[in-house]
Amino acid sequence: MSRARVLLLNSALGPLDYRVPREMQVEPGSIVLAPLGPRQIAGVVWEPERMPSDAEVGDNRLRNLLGVYDLPPLAAPLRRLIEWTANYYLAPPAAVLRMALASASALDGGRTVIEYRATGHVPERLTAQRQQALERIGERQGLVRELAAIADVSDGVIRGLVKVGAIEAVEVAVDDPYPLPDPAFAPPELSAEQRSVANTIVTAVEAQAFQPYLLDGVTGSGKTEVYFEGIAAAVAAGRQSLVLLPEIALTEPFLKRFEARFGHLPVAWHSDLRQSQRRRAWRAIASGEAKVVCGARSALFLPYRDLGLIVVDEAHETSFKQEDGVMYHARDVAVMRASFEQVPIVLASATPAIETRQMVEIGKYRELKLPGRYGVAQMPTIETIDLTQDPPAKQRWLAPSLVAAIEETVGKGEQALLFLNRRGYAPLTLCRHCGHRFRCPNCTAWMVEHRLLARLACHHCGHVMPPPAACPECHEEDSLVACGPGVERIADEVSALFPEAKVAIVTSDTIWSPAKAAEFVNRMEAGDIDIVIGTQLITKGYHFPNLTLVGVVDADLGLQGGDLRAAERSFQQIAQVAGRAGRGAKPGRVFLQTREPGAPVIQALVTGDAESFYAAETESRREAGAPPFGRYAAIIVSSEKLDEAVETANRIGLSAPETEGMMVFGPAPAPLAMLRGRHRQRLLVHARRTLDVQDVIRQWLSALEWPRGVRVAVDVDPYSF
Ligand code: ADP
Ligand code: ZN
Repeated sequence: MSRARVLLLNSALGPLDYRVPREMQVEPGSIVLAPLGPRQIAGVVWEPERMPSDAEVGDNRLRNLLGVYDLPPLAAPLRRLIEWTANYYLAPPAAVLRMALASASALDGGRTVIEYRATGHVPERLTAQRQQALERIGERQGLVRELAAIADVSDGVIRGLVKVGAIEAVEVAVDDPYPLPDPAFAPPELSAEQRSVANTIVTAVEAQAFQPYLLDGVTGSGKTEVYFEGIAAAVAAGRQSLVLLPEIALTEPFLKRFEARFGHLPVAWHSDLRQSQRRRAWRAIASGEAKVVCGARSALFLPYRDLGLIVVDEAHETSFKQEDGVMYHARDVAVMRASFEQVPIVLASATPAIETRQMVEIGKYRELKLPGRYGVAQMPTIETIDLTQDPPAKQRWLAPSLVAAIEETVGKGEQALLFLNRRGYAPLTLCRHCGHRFRCPNCTAWMVEHRLLARLACHHCGHVMPPPAACPECHEEDSLVACGPGVERIADEVSALFPEAKVAIVTSDTIWSPAKAAEFVNRMEAGDIDIVIGTQLITKGYHFPNLTLVGVVDADLGLQGGDLRAAERSFQQIAQVAGRAGRGAKPGRVFLQTREPGAPVIQALVTGDAESFYAAETESRREAGAPPFGRYAAIIVSSEKLDEAVETANRIGLSAPETEGMMVFGPAPAPLAMLRGRHRQRLLVHARRTLDVQDVIRQWLSALEWPRGVRVAVDVDPYSF
């Protein structure tokens, strides 16, 4: 008889064995439906020797597999990637598999789905709730569940709107083919420098061997144009390309440029897709029909049939690190995927991470350099404004010299960008009378005032409260004061200074979907915005030739907190936002407001001497045995009960193994000591680079037990600590 080991999609049990009925054909990678208790659940057939099972069951007790999906089996390189990710990040394989199967939304059969959309007919006497729901839905279309989520109402409200004829059902085909990108549609004239780099990438795509490249080019040097040549070569050879982007907001400018170069859009993969779009994309990726996919980090685990090239754009970006669920670093997993698939990978960045630079240093990655901007565009000049010498007025945040520069820029009909990495109006609200501060009830964090949304919000758990009229503690009215600036407050200041100017705020509160990003890009390009005020969302990817001035409101902000990567991250962020200035024919100027003009980060930016800065940072990492020279793993113990979290963390600490080359610090309260109502304790493991620290931690933790309400999560290569 034939048995199969199956990694189930939604099971904490680990892989289980099943009997394969005589008439059924399965192979490793087959996507199957299996019984689990009273449920039916999808899974993937695995090689038993690669996926040990805790529950060895005799032949006579096996249950039958129920069916095989009519979908291509998951190929061996993807199965190896799933195993590697689960092993390296100490995550359940089923959780990684879920990413590959995109939460199974792809599996449902049928060539059409029924979706819903507004008819345009608004019946009289609609309740306020239904009316508001219709407004929120606007022109969007989706399943009842999806529309209900958009409108923030129950499914019943949507069904009610269907009954009265305000919303109608439409049949959507989910197997329509995607148009093929045309490599010859509009190839650019590359400069000699660009041509030579592009040739290297094209040759690598044609050779189809694993090789990582660091494409290190200053902002505006044409990195995108150059890796597009690699994609063109892959398309010409009939292979697929994957471009990973760090944020969904960057998808829109990317799509536009791609379409201009290849005549058609690539397939986008991100969290804003409807289920039908997700399913269509998944299937086209699995069949090989989708030739170019661009997406957020989750696109990394999709079942490409014939991958030819991976690109990670803005490869230094911190948002490639996933901080919950499977805590993986998409840049690093992308390199592993390229190695399993035996294809080249291009990591593109103007400010590569120290880890990536070190890989070049030791010869594992090859470096491709584009040292100058394309065409007539020059790098912007960068100057400091010493806030101790040139202070803003009271309760103001822009220094007089920055205000003068904005005035001059806007007066010439050019655009200005002010960068402050703080959403909302003010980071802290307090009572002048009794000193009360508004704290999130679920997190160790202040409630942040958002005037545009008329509420206070926690940026960690999403808890919101209406803006209070009086202090909840001393009941004093009119005693609440906003402390410090957020982007909204800067926008107020700018509007007061330049009442005629058209001002836009760009944060995740205002740009939360690709459609919103498109709207912003269009307004910028049409000159419908004079001054943009934005968070890190505005720092990369965008290309606005008429934007000639960048002001960094608080260049010292990123250095606070002082974790290992603070200086590097601060440098990257400011260099990126500075890179938005002067990308066209008009020269760009950048002003950094600082209280410490002599700080190494600021000096590196002003002098343009990134090399010395990186060299010093790298040296101090080497001395501390910090990454990439040593490794860290964080063990986070959390519980709703503080004593349980502390007790468990202490026991884990006491049973730490004596391992050569490894040290354990803590437990101590984690940097966010309370998050979403859970108390968090942290142990930090520091290890020699060559130590298999995952294996040590696996054995260490497997010998212990903890109460039901306690969660123990391991963050391997944690980003910030
Ligand atoms: P980076 O990604 O390095 O910041 P981009 O690829 O965005 O640079 O290029 C900056 C600008 O210069 C873009 O508008 C791009 O279209 C243009 N550009 C770069 N190289 C060329 C080229 N060879 N021909 C025409 N335009 C180019
Ligand atoms: Zn909170």
